[in-house]
Amino acid sequence: MKVYNTLARKKEEFLPQGDEVKMYVCGVTPYDDAHLGHAMSYIIFDVIRRYLRYRGYRVKYVQNVTDIDDKIIDRANKRHTSIKELAEIFINSFKEDMNSLNIEPPDENPRATEVIPDIIEIVRGLIDRGYGYEARGSVYFRVRSVPDYGKLSHRSLDSMRAGSRIESGEEKEDPLDFVLWKASKPGEPSWDSPWGPGRPGWHIECSAMSLKYLGNTLDIHGGGQDLVFPHHENEIAQSESFTGVKPFVRHWLHNGMVQLGGEKMSKSLGNLITIKEAVDKYSADAIRIFVLSSHYRSPLTYSEEILEAAARGAERLRQTVNNPVSGNKTGKRIDTEPYRKRFSEAMDDDFNTAQAVAALFDLTRDINRYENEGFEAGEARETLKELGGVLGLTFQEREEAPPDAGALAQNSAIVYQTLGLPTPVATDAGDTIKKLIDLRQKLRKDKKWAEADMVRDKLADSGIALEDTPQGTVWKRKR
Ligand SMILES: [Zn+2]
Repeated sequence: MKVYNTLARKKEEFLPQGDEVKMYVCGVTPYDDAHLGHAMSYIIFDVIRRYLRYRGYRVKYVQNVTDIDDKIIDRANKRHTSIKELAEIFINSFKEDMNSLNIEPPDENPRATEVIPDIIEIVRGLIDRGYGYEARGSVYFRVRSVPDYGKLSHRSLDSMRAGSRIESGEEKEDPLDFVLWKASKPGEPSWDSPWGPGRPGWHIECSAMSLKYLGNTLDIHGGGQDLVFPHHENEIAQSESFTGVKPFVRHWLHNGMVQLGGEKMSKSLGNLITIKEAVDKYSADAIRIFVLSSHYRSPLTYSEEILEAAARGAERLRQTVNNPVSGNKTGKRIDTEPYRKRFSEAMDDDFNTAQAVAALFDLTRDINRYENEGFEAGEARETLKELGGVLGLTFQEREEAPPDAGALAQNSAIVYQTLGLPTPVATDAGDTIKKLIDLRQKLRKDKKWAEADMVRDKLADSGIALEDTPQGTVWKRKR
């Protein structure tokens, strides 16, 4: 199995230390809703994790939460809430997003604020070994003490120097040095340390959490290409200097960025599509197929048309898997070995998911074609389901988002008031809708057409569409 390593700038044989692959992927800073860029990254590493298991490895997957950060502090101040509350809201929102995309939760999901003693110990160790120094309550990493600094991002110290400067209030020996521990400003959250009250720098958090949960050497460290420099470069410098063990990471994997209209999707450009917006319109499978149809190291271009096409593809796969198996009329069966082989060969070649997805679509086409010709397709369906599962496909339809309970309650109250009826007690939104449908039925039976239409209109105002079928009236959330 070959994997592209950012450090070596080439594909290398995948060589983990043992049967259990130690995998670390940088997590989010929970101060806002996650967007499609996050979806791309976490879908890719979810698929890599699933594929390693399919290949017989055990995988320990750790992903951190940066729950103390300037952005969280700013946002919490603006919202007049505590950083803890703000982080909690967006940690939960992120978990919901990951779940809605069928991304498996990490084995360990530590928060930076839970490992402050570990961070302090590492910072102290770096100072003792001459890699760190204290200045006015902050601690900095002495970049020039590491001869191979820059090896991941393939930059020279001179080129980095051009882009760095000393901010006012910083007491760095060299503009290249980065912060390990920040002295806190008045009013900011802080922890006691040997250097006074402060909080950890961003880079040291990942070194501390990966060391704590996975040990000195990771098999895979993943993240977006925007994290290569300075974040991952600094993680290497800190971890290798502290433990004395090289390499810190055997395989560095970085995914490309999501593009929208030729630009990177980012908060600063204001062209974000949140995961919630995407999941509201498309199934998890559609979004996964959209992401996996490109190579993970390439930029991924978002457009409605491309996602619509992915949605049609997902629907074709879903129907093929879920169609009832027809009888075996010819005694022939579809040989699935060639598809399995194509799938594995593609994934073994630096996780070429685009080719793997193509193999699944070919299998789908052939199931439909040969089944029409009387072949037995049960095993082929199972294979499609199994390999699709390795890509995290669910073969489920888009999940209907729950109706807006507030609007529904209001409109429901108007209906009963207008008709001069008491508003019945409902257990939840579904129950409210059911009671309104029953009421409309009764009004129609009594030939009170205008009243019945009013019920329908008020449901429509709440985002609920009714459909009268021979089996009765069913409701759908309007798209
Ligand atoms: Zn990180």
